[in-house]
Amino acid sequence: MPRLSCFNCNGNHNLRDCPLPRNQSNINKKRKEFASKHNMGVRYHLSEDQRFSHMVPGQLSQKLRKALGLKDNQLPRHIYRYDIIMQSIGKMFLYNYLSRCIYIYTFLLSVINF
Ligand SMILES: [Zn+2]
Repeated sequence: MPRLSCFNCNGNHNLRDCPLPRNQSNINKKRKEFASKHNMGVRYHLSEDQRFSHMVPGQLSQKLRKALGLKDNQLPRHIYRYDIIMQSIGKMFLYNYLSRCIYIYTFLLSVINF
């Protein structure tokens, strides 16, 4: 049987079976050690080449902003297009919902023979 190592007290049991009061900073430290030892929590795309580490998703560099002809207070055009697309999807759902309501309403009226 493999020897267990409690994150709290280093004893031969799991953390959930530990009889001693919990020392959270100790537990966090041991968890981190365990994760780095077993290569957990390391993203595969961070482990090797760091060519694109200066890039942040969704953030435009000054160079790109200049290339797109954007002013300092201006968002790129695709953001506005996204907004328009989402608005039209919202309208579509609303009209769909309203037309169903009207359909059900007229159906109910016809059933009760008004
Ligand atoms: Zn323990």
